[in-house]
Amino acid sequence: MRARALFRYNRFRVNISARHTRADATDRSDLRDLTLAELEAAVVAAGERPYRAGQIASWIWRRGANSFDAMSDLPAALRQTLGSRFTLASPEVASVRRSSDGTRKLLLRLSDGEEIETVIIPGENRVTLCLSSQAGCAMGCEFCATARMGLHRNLTTAEIAGQIFAARRELDDSEEITNYVFMGMGEPLANYPRLIRTLAAMTEPWAMGISPRRITVSTVGHVPMMERLVAEIPVNIAVSLHATTDALRDRLAPINRRYPLQELIAACRRLPLKNRSRVTFEYVMLAGVNDSVDDARRLVKLLHPMRAKVNLIFFNPFPGAVLERSPREAVEIFQGILRRGNLTATIRESRGLDIAAACGQLYAEHHAAVAQPRVSESSSEIAR
Ligand code: SAH
Repeated sequence: MRARALFRYNRFRVNISARHTRADATDRSDLRDLTLAELEAAVVAAGERPYRAGQIASWIWRRGANSFDAMSDLPAALRQTLGSRFTLASPEVASVRRSSDGTRKLLLRLSDGEEIETVIIPGENRVTLCLSSQAGCAMGCEFCATARMGLHRNLTTAEIAGQIFAARRELDDSEEITNYVFMGMGEPLANYPRLIRTLAAMTEPWAMGISPRRITVSTVGHVPMMERLVAEIPVNIAVSLHATTDALRDRLAPINRRYPLQELIAACRRLPLKNRSRVTFEYVMLAGVNDSVDDARRLVKLLHPMRAKVNLIFFNPFPGAVLERSPREAVEIFQGILRRGNLTATIRESRGLDIAAACGQLYAEHHAAVAQPRVSESSSEIAR
């Protein structure tokens, strides 16, 4: 009984529509929701020695096992008991789109029918994986396709991590994921309890052992949680800034009404960053909205004298978006002003434009296609 009570933390009531009801959408925890201590407690509750937890962790976190049966060095009785108390689910790949630039966008279906996006982005000597933290998002940013969905629900730890294993199966033989960014669907810091468990499993030696320096959590600016996160695990932080006045940021990223610019920037200055790392500020360049010379000058003043990096992002348009991307020339002039103001400023080239790579866009297209079955899907899409 005690073990059962222990695992109650990660339960949430999902609003399961009749169409999505599945027998396995139970309220049992997934094995990948557990910390090492909880895994040990589960093993002991099943009448086994605690060291078995290490074996199980190796199966689920290193080898990406998808079933209890796969854990061949565990006694059958233990596998059976665990199987009756826990799930070990893996998100199902609903579709994969491969861009001409090598970017692959996966649409993953969860056990209750929710769908999320995960993107594999190969670069020079690196492969970055872009992870989702929520199904949908409640933050309401004006330029974001996911915002149009609203928040469906938080992802569990197992579902956030499950994206890594699903993506690994799509890699070419020569590829290995080197960097992880929480820049997919959702606001990671609005799902803090599950995020922190996932990050612990990703970074701690008993699970995946990935260096926190290879992980970036991007936030729209949830001030209290940013401070807590950096104190708990030294991952990199990226802050989606997009504006240099409260009036504009209130509109583009409504969380600004709760944590206005000065408060956000003051919090960034206070962050106890390790290894001389810097905060990255993301800035989506929107034509005639936030891309003027004055905006660039205000940005220099706003960030001075912080060790910061600004990442200028081309707006990724999506159907129904009223905003437009800034011309390259405007982005380069903006970058020049930031550099003369002693800021590191890079331009993020759009990746996977031909495969609806804007966050939330593949989901939106997929659902439009479901509503209107005659819409032809991209020829590069591999349906599963
Ligand atoms: N909620 C978090 C993480 C998800 S969004 C955050 O706000 O940071 C990840 C990044 O993608 C953010 O910088 C966001 O501003 C950017 N983004 C969202 N929609 C975009 C679009 N249509 N074009 C370009 N960048 C976009």
